[in-house]
Amino acid sequence: MMCFKFFSCRQIVLKVFLVQFLASLQTFAAPSPIIKFPGDDTSFTDKEVALHYLNKFYGCPKESCNLMVLKDTLKKMQKFFALPETGEIDQKTVEIMKKPRCGVPDVANYNFFHRKPKWGQKNVTYRILGHTPDLDEETIDDAFFRAFKVWSDVTPLKFTRIMDGEADIMINFGRNEHGDGYPFDGKDGLLAHAFAPGPGTGGDSHFDDDELWTLGEGQVVKVKYGNAEGEFCKFPFLFMGKEYNSCTSQGRDDGYLWCSTTYNFDEDGKYGFCPHELLFTLSGNADGAPCKFPFTFQGEKYDSCTTSGRDDGYRWCATTEDYDRDKTYGFCPETAMSTVGGNSEGAPCVFPYKFLGNTYDSCTTSGRSDGKMWCAVTKSFDDDRKWGFCPDQGYSLFLVAAHEFGHALGLEHSEDPGALMAPVYTFTKTLRLSNDDVKGIQELYGVPTDKPLPTELPPVTPMDVCNENIIFDAVAQIRGEIFFFTDRFLFRTADVRKKPTGPMLVATFWSELPEKIDAAYENPLEEKTVFFAGDEMWVYSASTLERDYPKKISSMGLPSDLHRIDAAYSFHKNKKTYLFAGNKFWRYNEAKKKMDPGYPKLIADSWSAVPDDLDAAVSLNSDVFSSGNHPCAAPWHFLASRSHVHVAGFCHDNIQTVSERSSGAHDWLEKVHAQKSDDLSKPAVFLRHGLQGCGEGEAGQQCRGPYSSCGPPLFFL
Ligand SMILES: [Zn+2]
Ligand SMILES: [Zn+2]
Repeated sequence: MMCFKFFSCRQIVLKVFLVQFLASLQTFAAPSPIIKFPGDDTSFTDKEVALHYLNKFYGCPKESCNLMVLKDTLKKMQKFFALPETGEIDQKTVEIMKKPRCGVPDVANYNFFHRKPKWGQKNVTYRILGHTPDLDEETIDDAFFRAFKVWSDVTPLKFTRIMDGEADIMINFGRNEHGDGYPFDGKDGLLAHAFAPGPGTGGDSHFDDDELWTLGEGQVVKVKYGNAEGEFCKFPFLFMGKEYNSCTSQGRDDGYLWCSTTYNFDEDGKYGFCPHELLFTLSGNADGAPCKFPFTFQGEKYDSCTTSGRDDGYRWCATTEDYDRDKTYGFCPETAMSTVGGNSEGAPCVFPYKFLGNTYDSCTTSGRSDGKMWCAVTKSFDDDRKWGFCPDQGYSLFLVAAHEFGHALGLEHSEDPGALMAPVYTFTKTLRLSNDDVKGIQELYGVPTDKPLPTELPPVTPMDVCNENIIFDAVAQIRGEIFFFTDRFLFRTADVRKKPTGPMLVATFWSELPEKIDAAYENPLEEKTVFFAGDEMWVYSASTLERDYPKKISSMGLPSDLHRIDAAYSFHKNKKTYLFAGNKFWRYNEAKKKMDPGYPKLIADSWSAVPDDLDAAVSLNSDVFSSGNHPCAAPWHFLASRSHVHVAGFCHDNIQTVSERSSGAHDWLEKVHAQKSDDLSKPAVFLRHGLQGCGEGEAGQQCRGPYSSCGPPLFFL
């Protein structure tokens, strides 16, 4: 029988104070140099990364991937990922190469797949040989069950789990070389692989257990005891007015880690204890009994879980004081502060620890160039050099399994970035098969015969920005590049004269955004990108979501009953942002961080010929684009797709004409006029589908369009 002490309040105050004190000390610590971590072989040059990648996934021969073949193979890879086909090892290409992905090659018939293999029978069996300690078994079994259901929903296939014997699809977790000649590679990089249908290893699916397996949104921690046994920790949760993102021992003097199972512990008081070897063990032969420390194993004493005596690296303990005599043992659960990768086999962080002479009370990125959080697993990294990465979002076992089972059923990688069978891992909350996935699997197995077809048609990914009717949700110039957003995809270009490349998933750059955004702009003062969807907004510095976001759009001064905005753009000359919704617009002062008085105004009153209910708006920064020798000092921009033309673009002459004729012009127009400069700014480009609208300024409009061809450049200068 276990019993735990109640929370003691005096303790809480003291501990919170202490942690804050240590945290503030750390802020003033000198920046650490970048060091080489033992057991970490993630620091390769771009060229090494590229050669390894092209060998593994594109069949470029290891010894002789020389310059000629390298260029061609690179282009093949760039085409696959809709990147500019430069044949060079450029930044965008290496960026994609470093993304976590599936271990199956992208070149058909290269390694795994020959002649469209498939299962001959409708009943396919699977067996789960091993479980990862990252998740409880029930969650793992359920993830695999749901992953198979993804495919059985759209085919006549039926999947049955068997508990012993040889199944068609044998599922296991492994590290590094795990018995099939296709080794995994530690944390990140390769996540899993699967063999195409066939006898023997055919259909088998392997998952890299150096990854942190979750449901994609951080550790999944099922609590024990407390008053919420069996429920999951809710991260973050609120305790004594402070948010916690992981289990904590705050408020307890016994060191046991606990978490709240609802957001507000202060109000709800629902809690449980986080998995820990002193609470219970997994598998083994002791029926889940907790570890007994110290225990004796082969004559030696152990004070903590160990990997001794095993070659698979899993941590275990004896459940009596003498393993040699009693032979009872169990595997140690991942505790809340278990590490991933590194050189410590998942041992938990030890706080505080010493690193290059400084003391750290939490995970840190110090010493690393890749920004990954890590910690030491002994009191001193300097002495022991034992470390691991701190838990992050992890990878969704369900999503990765659904992808691997696609291979196990005979599918290869898809060039459609919206497809489940795309090789790169991208987290999504709600998995939707794309049309490409469904067509592929139904080509092999046909449509379901004994169950109703799903009512919703699978989404088709817009693959060609010029030749498909694409309605853009948002357009924004971000760090010099123009991004076009449509549903969960984007196209982008750094050169307005060139056709944008894509599609790519929005989540590849901004993973927390919802599936469809309404508007986006770059903050002209802080180089931050702002996204809108529904009544919420997200602010990013590069790819990192700012703290406390998403927030309500009313926090910007928009009405609290406004359900969404249509379009937004920021004008770089006056540093003000224009926000459009329905027939109105607002002007936001980025410097003062508040809405300008006198707004909203009617679009029709201020922007002649600009329609209501916009799809998108963008104002391009002329400092970034030079107009070349075009007769206009400022470029004309025409945005066109085959049947929807949504255009606007003006030479500065037109603006001056406009502003001369108009009274009460926008301040930016006045400014343009006052400058009398040749280097004048451009107005915004407004987009609305089904309309050939364009417009600029308050009183006038000049419209050139429609342009019915995209061909080939999307923009004309
Ligand atoms: Zn794959
Ligand atoms: Zn394998």
